[in-house]
Amino acid sequence: MSKVKIKLIILGQLPVDVDKIKLTKWKSVVFELVGQIDNYTITNNADGLSWEFSDDNIENQLPNSFEGDFLVAMTHVPLEDNYYARQFTNNRICMTFYEMADILNLSNIPIENLVYGLLYYYSLIYKRSGNRIPSRYEVTTYTHDETRGCLFDMNGIKSDVVYSTNKPIICDSCVQGLTTERVPVNIINKVKEELKHIKKGIYYRLADLIKKYPIWTLVLSTISALIIGTTGSLLATILWEKLLK
Ligand SMILES: [Zn+2]
Repeated sequence: MSKVKIKLIILGQLPVDVDKIKLTKWKSVVFELVGQIDNYTITNNADGLSWEFSDDNIENQLPNSFEGDFLVAMTHVPLEDNYYARQFTNNRICMTFYEMADILNLSNIPIENLVYGLLYYYSLIYKRSGNRIPSRYEVTTYTHDETRGCLFDMNGIKSDVVYSTNKPIICDSCVQGLTTERVPVNIINKVKEELKHIKKGIYYRLADLIKKYPIWTLVLSTISALIIGTTGSLLATILWEKLLK
């Protein structure tokens, strides 16, 4: 199966820090990013009652021609119906960090993880839909409302995104759906392995471990302190005796 080619762009100013180099360096068996991450300005103001940008408004600001199979625009403005990703005509998608960055920061999850997850999600959707991104008006059964930590979680409650942006999985029913729609099993298995690398930084992984096993951490740190203390006093004794001689 050939890799899906994705054009990633930034739409408007991003007040959050997104590591563009980290994003472009990500390697996957199912997709590749083409070219550099270009910046496009937002030329209109919000047109929604709650300062959101309507679908028509965003659609008018997305580039129509681009390199690659589909386009993903990253923005920080609120989207219609408070979704964090919307699909548009001509294989274009817009995702927003609005509220999402705060949710992820609270759980110490890198915000790039949200982008990686969506790149995998839309690559698999693209493949299972016959090499196209379905319009948002099409009724599809790709997502499930139950939060399972799966790439295909609906995340209707936006804060649930923390479960699918730290070591996301593809749950059994989604694997079945993908295989039925002719996505090769070997590709699914490789993607499942790659998803394990979408995780928190080492410091926060250790902090989580300490939180999960507080007693064991205490026991281990006590043993370590005793070993270090004993070794230190032994060394001091040996050195002292050598010096006296
Ligand atoms: Zn699933």
